Amino acid sequence: MSSPGSPPLEVGFEGVVKRYGPVTALHDIDLRIGAGQFVVLLGPSGSGKSTLIRSLAGVERIDAGRLTLNGQAVADARRHLPPERRNLAMVFQDYALWPHLTALGNVCYALRRLRIGTADARGRAHEVLERVGLAGHADRYPHELSGGEQQRVALARAVVARPGLLLFDEPLSNLDADLRERLRVEISTLTRETGATAVYITHDQSEAFALADQIGVLEAGRLVQFGPPEDIYHRPANRFVARFTGLAGEMPGVVTRVSGDEVGITVSGCEVRGRHHGRLHQGDPVRVAIRPAAVRIGQPAPSAPGLTATVVDVAYRGRGYDHVVRCGDHMLTGIFDDRRHPRGARVVLDLAPSGCVAYPEDTDVPQTRNSREVTAVRIPA
Ligand code: ADP
Repeated sequence: MSSPGSPPLEVGFEGVVKRYGPVTALHDIDLRIGAGQFVVLLGPSGSGKSTLIRSLAGVERIDAGRLTLNGQAVADARRHLPPERRNLAMVFQDYALWPHLTALGNVCYALRRLRIGTADARGRAHEVLERVGLAGHADRYPHELSGGEQQRVALARAVVARPGLLLFDEPLSNLDADLRERLRVEISTLTRETGATAVYITHDQSEAFALADQIGVLEAGRLVQFGPPEDIYHRPANRFVARFTGLAGEMPGVVTRVSGDEVGITVSGCEVRGRHHGRLHQGDPVRVAIRPAAVRIGQPAPSAPGLTATVVDVAYRGRGYDHVVRCGDHMLTGIFDDRRHPRGARVVLDLAPSGCVAYPEDTDVPQTRNSREVTAVRIPA
């Protein structure tokens, strides 16, 4: 895009608390987002994602702590800068276009505060509409556009004034799978072209892994982990994060040795290796959280007995096959292999230590709807 914009904003949350009556929606959130970063906040329904992004936008008032943009407080217990003075734009789940304005009118509306001439504004709006593939739809009203087209207009409207911060509130949730994937790529490339800082909320872990420079995981109003996708995937801070970001399954075991952040664990009579977060000792009962990508299927060999399992289900996925296997009393899902292993086949599982994380048996977490549904997340390239 040709027109220069605001420099990207650095975002700070310092001990931010937000309550709705007796409900504490955000507990003491500390978070620093570097200028120009694309951050995805991931969590199940009710974890506080909307409250967090709405507080940042200035739509909600915080109860304690401080919110800063480029180090300047925009909200604390007394101060509250309104949304229009925060140099940001937001893309919503339900598009939120003005129904009485055309696509062009919606995009031009975002430029009204820049006090530029009508011809100039229309020129810039046209340029951005063309960038999102809607040059031919500029004169249509929202009800004359599909959901995906409306969201492209909303995206164009968000970026046209080149704000320093772009906020995305589950923008792909109302679109079907194929369109979701295409628009995700558009959001990613267009946002990075503008150079703006981006904060994006979602409950979809594959969306988070695909988009983010950094992922923050929210659990019941608390930020439980913040880091690059690779860290979240390989070193999930607790069982909740592990479950919510995609497991093949969990298996019980006993620690046989501890060496730095590596542990040996006996699982179903076999020694497997994994990682831990430093609180484990020899003899401790554990749960091993197993990533789907960590599991390789092999053939049983009498000379090298391994962790044996039975194939319960197999699904063709184009590039290969996803298997569900039963290992003792435990199911592991989303196990990929180039070859089809038929239902009922006895196989051996080879577990990569980088995808197995051991947690003390007593640290339980509630199952969330999303964590139960998650079966497989591929490691981002
Ligand atoms: P998410 O976006 O992750 O689904 P929310 O931020 O919407 O989570 O909600 C976090 C918590 O705050 C939930 O317990 C929710 O019920 C509560 N909550 C959100 N908005 C309100 C409100 N306006 N009044 C009362 N409680 C609310």
